[in-house]
Order: sequence, then C-alpha cells, then structure tokens
Amino acid sequence: MLSSERIMQRCDQLARHSELPGGLTRVFLSPENRAANELVLGWMREAGMQAKLDAIGNVAGRYEGERPGLPCLMLGSHLDTVRDAGKYDGMLGVVSAIECVDSLHSRNIRLPFALEVIGFGDEEGVRFGTTMLGSRAVAGAFDCNNLQARDPQGKTLETALREFGLDPQKIPQVKRNKGDVLAYAELHIEQGPVLEAEGLPVGVVTAINGFSRLRVTLSGMAGHAGTVPMRLRRDALAAAAECVLMVERVAARDAELVGTVGRIEASPGAINVIPGKVVFTVDVRAPRDELRHSCVSEVRREITALCQRRRILVEIENLQELGVAPCAGWLMAQMDRAVAAEGLRVRRLPSGAGHDGMALKEIADIAMLFVRCKGGVSHNPAESISAEDAEAGAKVLLRFISGFETRG
Ligand SMILES: [Zn+2]
Repeated sequence: MLSSERIMQRCDQLARHSELPGGLTRVFLSPENRAANELVLGWMREAGMQAKLDAIGNVAGRYEGERPGLPCLMLGSHLDTVRDAGKYDGMLGVVSAIECVDSLHSRNIRLPFALEVIGFGDEEGVRFGTTMLGSRAVAGAFDCNNLQARDPQGKTLETALREFGLDPQKIPQVKRNKGDVLAYAELHIEQGPVLEAEGLPVGVVTAINGFSRLRVTLSGMAGHAGTVPMRLRRDALAAAAECVLMVERVAARDAELVGTVGRIEASPGAINVIPGKVVFTVDVRAPRDELRHSCVSEVRREITALCQRRRILVEIENLQELGVAPCAGWLMAQMDRAVAAEGLRVRRLPSGAGHDGMALKEIADIAMLFVRCKGGVSHNPAESISAEDAEAGAKVLLRFISGFETRG
C-alpha cells in the first residue's frame, strides 16, 4: 500500500546527504550525490526493480511488465538540488514513483508495459552551469562539448564523471529510443502559489514554459566620482538600472510573461569610481514561444536605444533558449481522469519552472502532475508540503500508472 509516511521519511533521509551543514545542498557527482544514489538504488530494489547507475550518473530502475522487454512508461525527477534548497524539489517525484512501483509489486501486479523510474543526476545545473545533463543524455541530446564544462574549482565534467567511477565514452548508450518510451510522467512540487490559493492538493500541468537567457555587457567610461561632471559621464551602472526597470515594465505587460534580471556585476566596483562596465543577465519565460520572442526582441531594442542615448556600448549574447514543452493532450486527459477518480477537482496549470520533460519531449510525449507546496515557496529551505498532499499526489500518480493506456 502507498505510505505517505514513508514518502516523507525518505525525503527527510535524502536531505541528510548535504554538503551544507544544517541545510541542503547536493550537487552533481559529489560525495553526497553518491550517498543519495545508494539510498535510492536500495529503495528501487526493495520495490522489485532492477536498478543501476547509468553512464551520466542517473539512478535508473526498471520494473518489468507482463513479460520482459516491453516498452516502458517512464517516471522520474531529479536528485540534485540548488544551493540551500528544500527537501522536495525533485526528490518527491523520485520517491513517489518508487512508492507507486512498490505498491504494484507488493500486490504482484504486472502491467502491459514496463515501468522505469529515473532519478536524474543533474537537472539544476548548479555545479557545471549546464542544466538537465541527465535527461538530455536519456533523450540523446547530450552535447559532448559539455564534458569540458568546468565547476567553480576548475574540474571538468569529464574528470568528475571518471572520478565518480563513470565512463564518459558510454554516455551515448544512455540514449533511449522513441519506441522504447511510451510516455514520460513526472510528479513535482508546484513551486508556485496557484494550487494553494485554490485549496487544491494537485494540478495537471499543461506545458512547461519556454525561456530565453541573455547576458548583457554595458561599457561606459570609468572615472573619478568627484571630478567628472554629471553631464559628461558615461555611467554603465546607471544605464543598467534603467535596463532593469525596463525589463520589469516590458514583462509586466502580459500576465503570461515573466522577466527577471537576476545577476548584475559592476566594475571596477569602488565607492569613489564611476562604474565603467556592467554585466547583467536577463531571464524571460512564457507559455507561448511567440510571446517570449516578442518580449526578448523588445528588451533588446530598448536596451540598444537606451544605451545609444547614454553613449554606452552594448553587447547582448544569447546564453540559452528552450522552447515551450507542451504536455500531450492524451496524457493530460488520462491525468485528469486519475485526479477526478481521487475525488479531486481537476485544475490545469502551466509550469513556470523548467523540468526534465523539456529534454525528454524529444523521445516521448510528456505529462506532469503538480503537488501543492506551502506558500508556493521553493529553492529555499522553507520549502514544505503536507503528508496529506504527498499522499494525494502519489495516489493520483498510481491511478495514472495503473490505468495508463498507450495512444492509439
Ligand atoms: Zn525540480
């Protein structure tokens, strides 16, 4: 039987494997990552699965269907965290999926398809600055240039994989083919306040919003804060300040858009020097690609115009861009039915945060189920869910799995 108590306990257990004393930070290929993997491998085996670590460091478990070798319904989420993270972002999806398999196994139930549960090693991208390394490898979209990405200590991903006992040469073997994966379904905390506001424990995700990330470099002229008159200045930080407010204004124009300047560095960075150079980032997200593109173009235009007026040189680089990952209609319909069968109101909502499904959509249709989290808070030690909601989520997921029908 499903045990919400065990789900909560296992999230607590995983949270103990942290490099941050008294908090939770667990990055890809760290000793804490290894310890968490061992726990999850053990739980998978207890739940009747064959489980192993793959070449990119994902924990992968398989529960055969009515006969061995059938295509699978893939379930999963990630086991890495951001810095000073909460206990549920990622881990809840892995632990809940294992709980569902355990429930089937304990009742000797085999389905007309296999189940696979994957605990992705890297989704957040904290250590090497590149996100979704684990799911991109599974989707066959792993970029080998990423092996040369370095962590803050200067160690390459390739070296870190080898030191972890993995063989980077074998990463292409992690790729799954389209026909092997019938669908990918992920349970995840909402990371937003919508479900809480409506008094609902779960929601069915319609799409994972796309995002665009820019790096903007403004070059003005550094100078003495006491001697250069205001009208002769080319202050890069003052220009950046206008840019930050402009991004906020442009993004606020449409309720579906969000825009953020999350990082800014001014140099030389002294109290008595006019800032000569500023680098800042822009992150724009939307549930529709055209909307996001038009926002990014407007932001680019406005930055250029504003800098021209201030005689500031500007360079705008595209850092990363991912299109919207829509959840498949046929899977949403099945997830809706699972929610309704639990006596809950069906609420559909988009995901503002990125998830592994963005990578996996290349090989399979995707579905997601959100579980309410307190105050919509995530990426924060205050992240919290109730045992009742964990139970509701797991029950819906189990219904979805048990009643899963392949398309066609
Ligand atoms: Zn997550």
